[in-house]
Amino acid sequence: MSRTVYVNGEYLPEEDAKISIFDRGFLFADGVYEVTAVLHGKLVDKQGHLSRLRRSLSELDMPSPADDKEIEAIQRELLRRNNVTEGLVYLQITRGPAERSFFYPDPETTHPSLVLFTQAFPLIANPKAEQGIKVLTVEDLRWTRRDIKTVQLLPSSMCKMAARAQGKDDAWMVQDGYITEGTSNNVFLVKRNHIITRRLSNNILPGITRASLLAYAEEAGYEIQEVSFSVKEAQSAEEAFITSATAFVLPVVEIDGHLVGNGRPGPVGRRLRELYIAESLRRAE
Ligand code: PMP
Repeated sequence: MSRTVYVNGEYLPEEDAKISIFDRGFLFADGVYEVTAVLHGKLVDKQGHLSRLRRSLSELDMPSPADDKEIEAIQRELLRRNNVTEGLVYLQITRGPAERSFFYPDPETTHPSLVLFTQAFPLIANPKAEQGIKVLTVEDLRWTRRDIKTVQLLPSSMCKMAARAQGKDDAWMVQDGYITEGTSNNVFLVKRNHIITRRLSNNILPGITRASLLAYAEEAGYEIQEVSFSVKEAQSAEEAFITSATAFVLPVVEIDGHLVGNGRPGPVGRRLRELYIAESLRRAE
């Protein structure tokens, strides 16, 4: 049975959903997106994702086709129609269809496109939480406004493919000797019970899971240090992990063939995953 998706005001079977070939999302990657996790049919970190969406739009002077309340209503309706209790809801806004030109079209005469769809899969029962993931470090090939969540994802795709070609699960990207982030996640180390993660800037995406996890960890009494770290420093950490809306918190057990700690998921990462899931279940709306 096909999914019901949402496109520009309509709920449609996925095979009937259409976007113009002139859509600037298609021609220029002129679009932004958000991925929100769903647990027990409810939205995790809902407000954080909506706020980041607003910021992405505003940084690109992109008009919004819907306000927060309307977006939320569509998200809930899609979850209901597709019977999704665990998985994600994806949202994308592009500047819409316009005659091809590098200049933005007149916002008075252009309609931004709004697309949402769901994906159902287990988030809590993730086998990688037990095994941990192996990462390869690669040069960060992306543009320098990584703080905006655009659909320009080809560099991340290329890095993930490079990791897969080496039999690894993901890539960590490196700029000027320091790790920026994972291809689709933020990165963390644990050293002497301190949680270390790169500070926010234009060089990384301000992860919503990152922000929530740091708040929960601080409440739980962990010291947090927001500093950059090199590949060597990461390899010699006691533990390493990643965060994202759909991975939650996942341990990293190998970096470029070097085992992190004893090569098994560590206690802090495990505790933080449990904490994040417990708080998300409690706060999901
Ligand atoms: N960094 C990048 C480059 C990402 O693509 C993502 C996930 N979209 C993240 C970090 C994690 O962000 P979030 O916790 O909001 O999913």
